[in-house]
Amino acid sequence: MSTDCLFCKIAAGEIPAEKLYEDDEMLAFRDIAPQAPVHFLVIPKKHIQGPAGVGMDDEALIGKMMRTGSKVAKDNGVSDYRLVFNNGAGAGQTVFHIHMHVLGGRSLNWPPG
Ligand code: C5P
Repeated sequence: MSTDCLFCKIAAGEIPAEKLYEDDEMLAFRDIAPQAPVHFLVIPKKHIQGPAGVGMDDEALIGKMMRTGSKVAKDNGVSDYRLVFNNGAGAGQTVFHIHMHVLGGRSLNWPPG
């Protein structure tokens, strides 16, 4: 855990979030500023600063993020959805703990802005 990381604090239960799924290594919770009718984030409890920080030892964990996101999307009634990872401030990353956005429940344009 990184002591000054917002998502580590959410994972530790120190900051509230609307949790949709949790196990010993993974958490899914609703985005506080939803950009679609269904918009939640999947994070590993392990602190990794972003996609560029993923190491070889993390490969299974990152695969599990995708499986978790797909399961929670299905549980929330969406079969068509977009998975987004932002890497770096210039790409829109504002929280430097890796997270996967899952967006669905409306039609989504391509390319994203
Ligand atoms: O990819 P990016 O870093 O921009 O995404 C961070 C996301 O975390 C934002 O969509 C923001 O709304 C969300 N967030 C949240 N709960 C917080 C703080 C941020 O869901 N307490």
